[in-house]
Order: sequence, then C-alpha cells, then structure tokens
Amino acid sequence: MTYCDTQLFINGEWRDSADGRSLPVRNPATGAEIGRVAHAGTADLDSALAAAERGFEVWRDFMPAQRSKIMRKAAALMRERASDIAQLLTQEQGKPLAEAKGEALAAADIIEWFAEEGFRVYGRLVPHRSNPAIRQMVIKDPVGPVAAFTPWNFPINQVVRKIGAGLAAGCSMIVKAPEETPASPAALIRAFQDAGLPEGVLGLVFGNPAEISEYLIASPIIRKITFTGSTPVGKLLAGMAGQHMKRVSMELGGHAPVIVCEDADVALAVKSAGSAKFRNAGQVCISPTRFLVHNSVKQQFAEAMAELARGIKVGDGMSADTQMGPLANPRRLTAMAEFQQDAVARGATVLAGGERIGDTGNFWAPTVLTDVPLEARLFNDEPFGPVAGIRGFDQLDEAIAEANRLSFGLAGYAFTRSLANADLLSRRVEVGMLWVNTPAAGSAELPFGGIKDSGYGTEGGPEALEAYLNTRAVVVANV
Ligand code: NAD
Repeated sequence: MTYCDTQLFINGEWRDSADGRSLPVRNPATGAEIGRVAHAGTADLDSALAAAERGFEVWRDFMPAQRSKIMRKAAALMRERASDIAQLLTQEQGKPLAEAKGEALAAADIIEWFAEEGFRVYGRLVPHRSNPAIRQMVIKDPVGPVAAFTPWNFPINQVVRKIGAGLAAGCSMIVKAPEETPASPAALIRAFQDAGLPEGVLGLVFGNPAEISEYLIASPIIRKITFTGSTPVGKLLAGMAGQHMKRVSMELGGHAPVIVCEDADVALAVKSAGSAKFRNAGQVCISPTRFLVHNSVKQQFAEAMAELARGIKVGDGMSADTQMGPLANPRRLTAMAEFQQDAVARGATVLAGGERIGDTGNFWAPTVLTDVPLEARLFNDEPFGPVAGIRGFDQLDEAIAEANRLSFGLAGYAFTRSLANADLLSRRVEVGMLWVNTPAAGSAELPFGGIKDSGYGTEGGPEALEAYLNTRAVVVANV
C-alpha cells in the first residue's frame, strides 16, 4: 500500500495546518522520506479545542449502548483494514509486517473490550443515616475533554488504549500522536470517523510536542492529560498539569528485571524473555532489560541467549522473513552505540551483536552482553533497544534488591519452578506488572501501568475507565 501524507483531524475533517507547515516522515529501514505530516500551529489547536468542547457536549449524552455501537463498528473496520494499515505502520516505524498487523488487530480487541466495559460504569445509592426520603447518589460522569500524548513505538496501540477507555467513559479527546509515525494512528482515527463518531469527539494533531503539550495543558477546556513516553517528559507534563489542577495518567519508562532462579526452566526463560527482548527491536516500555541469572545457570543461559540473538533475521519489516526491523529513528542508533561503548569500557563482555548493521537505515544487531557492572548505563538508564544485559546472583534476596534498586517500576519477569519463590517475588518485586514463567501478554482486561517513576494510572481493566470519570455525590431530599 502506498504511503500517504497525514493531515490534522479537527471537527470531523481532515485538513492541512492553517499555515501550511508540514514535517517529513522517514522510513527507518531506508532513511528515505516517504511522506509528510501536517504541523499544527496555535490556530489549529484553538480549532481543535473548540471542537473538543462541542464534541464533549454531544458525546457525554450518548448512552453507553449508543457509544458501544459506534465503537464496535470502528473495531470491525480496524479488523477489515488491518493488512493495509500494517503496511503504513511498517513503512513508518519499521516493525515486521506481522507485528504491525497484530497491532492493528489488537486495537480492534481493545476497542471492543472498552465498548463493553462502558456499560458497566455504575454509580450507587447510599442509604441516608436517618431519613428514607433522602436519596444519596454517587454519580460517575466523564471528566471532560482529554489531551492525549502518545509515542512512536506502538503508534496504534498507545493511542487506542487511551481512546478506548476515554470514549467509553464519554470523554472527547485531542490526540497528539507521534510525528515520526503519523499515518497508522491516523488510520485508527479514520476508523472511528467512518464508524459514525460525531464530529469533535476525536481530534488528531501533530507538530512540536513541547509547544502542543504546553498549549493544550494550559487550556481551560482540557480537563485531563494522559501521556505515554519517557519518565523525564512525563515528570515535566505532570508538573504542568499540576499547575493547572488537571487530572493525569502517566505511562512512563521501565527497566524490566528478569530474575532467572536456580530452579528455573532455562530453555523457557530464554525463549520467553529472549524473544520478548528483541520484539519491536527492544523499543517496548515493558521490554525485559536486566537479566539477573542465578550463577549456577548463568553460563548456560547466556550462551543460549547469544544463540537466540544471533539467529534473529534482521531486515526491512516489509520482507516476509524479517523477524526484527530497524530502530525507529537515528536517535536510538546513537543511544545503542553509547550504551554499548559504556558497558564494554566498564568491563562487560559482548556475546552477540554489539554493532550497527550496514550504513543504510537504523539497524542494530540483537545484542547480548554479560557480566554487566551495576554502574554501566545499561543497568541504570532505559536502553529502549535490542540489548540484553546479564548479571549473576547467588541469593534470591540479592536479585530482588537489584530488581528494586532503580526508580523504575513498570514490568518484571521471573522464572522459577518453586511456588515459594514465585510467591516471594510477587510480593517483593516493585513493579506494576509481573509475569512469572511466561512472556508478557498485554490484554485490555488486565491493568497496564507502572509504579514509582514509571508513572501512575492504568490503561487496562475497569480501572482504566476510572481515569476518565469524575465521581460526584448528589443528595436529593423528597420534600
Ligand atoms: P523523548 O523523551 O524525546 O520522547 C518520548 C515521547 O514523548 C515522544 O513521543 C515525544 O514526541 C514525546 N514528547 C517529548 N517531549 C514532549 C513534550 N514536551 N510534550 C509532549 N510530548 C513530548 O524520547 P524519544 O527519543 O522519542 O524516545 C526515547 C525515550 O522515550 C526512550 O528511551 C524511552 O524511555 C521513552 N519512550 C517510552 C515509551 C513508552 O512506551 N513508555 C515510548 C517511546 C519512548
């Protein structure tokens, strides 16, 4: 499918920015410019805000069944269009076509789940202490127009988790999607448009992220902010939202520990955590990152991980046999080189990869480093790339302390055959999501989110809707 330019979506219409500005979009596998994306200015943002205000007035009064019908239609359109949308996504982001199609199909599942969950937004009646003629009601209603900021690693998924919950709750939303990967989130928004979503309920803008976030967060029309991205940017936006007393959800960076115990099924650990490590070229907030392996099985584990890494077919995501695509932008390539040099300079050993592949596109070889010192940047900053760092441990307590050492608390993984170990790990590892003896499998019905510096709020399960709802008390006396 031919890659297309992407416009802004404001008040139910696709349009160029008022001043005609646009930005290039590049294919990370080739570096070539494949299209352009409109760059919103303040005039466009004002239009988007006014539309979101009007859209909210309409959508808040749609009943859950009416919202659900439109959302289900949007989900069906995503399914129908998944193959075409995957082509856009792979061309702009780099991931293999099968993963891109999977992302478009998963979006349909997420929309459907929230379309159902919208039926279960209930208030309650609370008995009065002395007077039966007084009705005390607890009412849940939508928080208002929302500004959503999403990144480029899962251009559809990061948007759909927010709009699935927000629309089901009755909010209107302005999405600031990533400039690097604009066409696939635009295709998602188009599915809602074609499903009959009233104008103004969803807006889509691109441009300068800092300018747009500053403008939208300060606007009195916006009642809630939701952001997915790095912890430093999340802290910046949460601070701005605090100044304007706006509700906030933050899905931020992670540095997932993988604890492989003495009694682990090592082959399972390598297959599950190893494959997860290199999925989307490691550009996943829940990507396994610090592999903490019991010293009795460390060598076996490290050799098997290196073999797995060496066997991964890296290439253009549009080729059928590609298992790992390029990094999404040249910044990530520079970051990988820096992580690598730093770790090696501090004494880590390279078992696989460790270098750029070719000089066209942003390809970095799947990399495995062992005996990574704790001071290495790889064990402190989020690598967000296809690099696995391994360290040994002797006592499980040591591994738990290392897992909890960083300020991140998003995802964690563990492999053990012992129920006692699994129980201890589930109580002690400070993460929002822990997977034991299994790879991560996100689903709309499970909470998705972090603790500590990885943010607050969750993007799955019934709690995800709460983030878009006000809870109010109304007391009516029958006089
Ligand atoms: P970055 O921190 O510059 O940007 C991350 C995201 O935030 C991008 O989508 C960007 O457009 C947006 N952003 C940046 N400044 C913003 C602002 N002032 N207002 C609103 N949005 C803003 O980093 P990057 O180079 O694009 O990505 C690198 C890092 O970002 C990674 O190391 C990773 O930690 C993090 N990241 C996390 C996720 C995630 O899923 N949690 C996704 C993408 C990137």
